[in-house]
Amino acid sequence: MAFINRKGCVLKIAVASGKGGTGKTTISTNLALTLADKGITVQLLDCDVEEPNCHIFLNPVIEDKWPATVLIPKVDQEKCTGCRVCADVCEFKAIAVIKGKVLIFPELCHSCGACKLFCPEGAISEIPREIGIIEKGKSGRIGFLQGLLHIGELASPPVIREVREAAGNSEVTIIDSPPGTSCPVIEAVKESDFVLLVTEPTPFGLNDLELAVGMVKELTMPFAVAINRSDIGDDEVVKYCKREGIAIFLEIPNDRKIAEAYSRGEMIVRALPEYRAAFEQCWARIAGSAEKNR
Ligand code: SF4
Ligand code: SF4
Repeated sequence: MAFINRKGCVLKIAVASGKGGTGKTTISTNLALTLADKGITVQLLDCDVEEPNCHIFLNPVIEDKWPATVLIPKVDQEKCTGCRVCADVCEFKAIAVIKGKVLIFPELCHSCGACKLFCPEGAISEIPREIGIIEKGKSGRIGFLQGLLHIGELASPPVIREVREAAGNSEVTIIDSPPGTSCPVIEAVKESDFVLLVTEPTPFGLNDLELAVGMVKELTMPFAVAINRSDIGDDEVVKYCKREGIAIFLEIPNDRKIAEAYSRGEMIVRALPEYRAAFEQCWARIAGSAEKNR
């Protein structure tokens, strides 16, 4: 495609879905392998940081790992007068002043920096706090990055941001987004050139697809739909896409052989080459659409 190898021009494709368990990871990993097998340099970013599982299929060799951190306030009790300004400006109730002593609740802190900015005594500095791990490696010719949010941590967007920022150079970057339509998804997809929305042809699938479509429209991003297990359920998703003028770029049937390959941790395009053409066609349509929207 024309944009491939154009200097400084990298295509970023986000694979997202309104809910978990739709086959988003299957599509992300198989798309990445399809491109790598075509000789395109590709990296896959697993931004589903609460439950990253692309590694199960790609089996990457991890070459580097480092902590994902956020900045939280630290109070110099010598300078602090107990004025409560910090507690009053904190929108997240992450800081309190009790009997003149400042208490910080790190899990609630959104690292907004307001307390430091408004402290009249300059008593607040910032220190890093580890909330997850970033891992970087390779799976054959596919570059690989994933974020893992530590158990009990609430703030996944900073880990997702760090995964995105740690991405290297490649002709194509595929981002496996978290499920849903809230802040973590927006953080994962926001700098993409194209969003592939994965769904299933069921009433729940349709409901979540409608929400996901609303999100990408709000973000004014080009997108299309991939239907997994396309021969189960009903045809309401197809009818909805037709009605809304939304293109369907990929349909994967509910094939027992796919489920068997999945359970063995195998990639569809390797275990079942008859599906490779569908992924290649999906790629060609994404590339064409992204090129048109540049
Ligand atoms: S705003 Fe500064 S001086 Fe006031 S209570 Fe908070 S840390 Fe202490
Ligand atoms: S950095 Fe922001 S969220 Fe965190 S304690 Fe300070 S004001 Fe609250």
